[in-house]
Amino acid sequence: MSTATEIPQIDLQPYKSLENGALETRIQAVRDALGPRLLILGHHYQQDEVVAQCDLRGDSYQLSQMAADSTDCRHIAFCGVHFMAETADILANRPEKLVERKGERVQVYLPDMAAGCSMADMAAIDQIEDAWDQLGELLDTEDITPVTYINSAATLKSFVGRHGGIVCTSSNARAALDWAFSRTSRVMFFPDQHLGRNTALGMDITEDQMPVWDPYADDLGGNSEQGLQASKVILWKGHCSVHQMFKPEHVALFRDKHPGIQILVHPECPRDVFELADESGSTGKIIKTVEAAPAGSKWAIGTELHLVNRLKQEHPDQEIHFLSPVVCMCATMYRIDLAHLCWTLENLAAGTPVNRIDVNEETAKWSLVALERMLEVR
Ligand code: SF4
Repeated sequence: MSTATEIPQIDLQPYKSLENGALETRIQAVRDALGPRLLILGHHYQQDEVVAQCDLRGDSYQLSQMAADSTDCRHIAFCGVHFMAETADILANRPEKLVERKGERVQVYLPDMAAGCSMADMAAIDQIEDAWDQLGELLDTEDITPVTYINSAATLKSFVGRHGGIVCTSSNARAALDWAFSRTSRVMFFPDQHLGRNTALGMDITEDQMPVWDPYADDLGGNSEQGLQASKVILWKGHCSVHQMFKPEHVALFRDKHPGIQILVHPECPRDVFELADESGSTGKIIKTVEAAPAGSKWAIGTELHLVNRLKQEHPDQEIHFLSPVVCMCATMYRIDLAHLCWTLENLAAGTPVNRIDVNEETAKWSLVALERMLEVR
């Protein structure tokens, strides 16, 4: 509730009925007023009209580097999902950056707080801690390195930092696992079982050395003691609801209908699709692969729909298909629209900031330990 001296926040509702042209003009007015103090970051999976308003766009890893490198900016409007904005807050406000800015923090805003990530939500910190405690009754947890995919809450990154672990991205998952195995003989990988499995299979670790921990099972994540004792990588039962939708029959369909087509997928896809693909890689690698391909190349790409459609528009000399007959877009990313962005920016300009992401000091401290390892390991 506001007091007599507080300025009330501007209400979101009226923005929802504005046309895109009007929203774009108003967003530009805030950008002009704040100049380099404002940075709008956007993930590749965002809608086109949102991407058009971003100063920089990238995948989770690239965006975290951009936030880490920011110099002039004091405000980041993050057009992505919640865990990405948390990571930006931690990296942009790490101790050496605060010293450079004489203690002034970069404020990070997520235009719609409901923009979460279904994968990140599949691993809650209390579930991870419970699993770790159960493992500790059976195995030596000093000999397990926890590895969390960047698509996870800051609380998980903090857990990993406190327990000698590392954050990985889809581009450095192999390097992160190599790093982990140089320290311990086992790894616990969360929250994406597919990225963990696809990466470990490429390191000659077999499927039977990778039990899956189900946080809803009664005991030991649904595993036997022998299974866990024989494990090399304990995978968490989480997945991306977008990449989980791609199926082997989609690969067969495109190969049948389009001879010579190449299948290019993200490693969050299930093993059977990943192994059938001609090429795979992070969002950044998918973009670079298409950029480097000659005219006339034919692709069926297994990743988020908005990105594939943008690649189609940007490379009309190539034949690009979405690797599924059904729509697979990231519904939570899609929550960020021009109305929410404009509302966030105008509140910021009016001195009534909304939707600020502020990771608490202790969580940020340990998350940073794990994130800095991620930035070093490539
Ligand atoms: S595409 Fe999947 S992993 Fe990425 S933000 Fe959306 S739900 Fe999360």
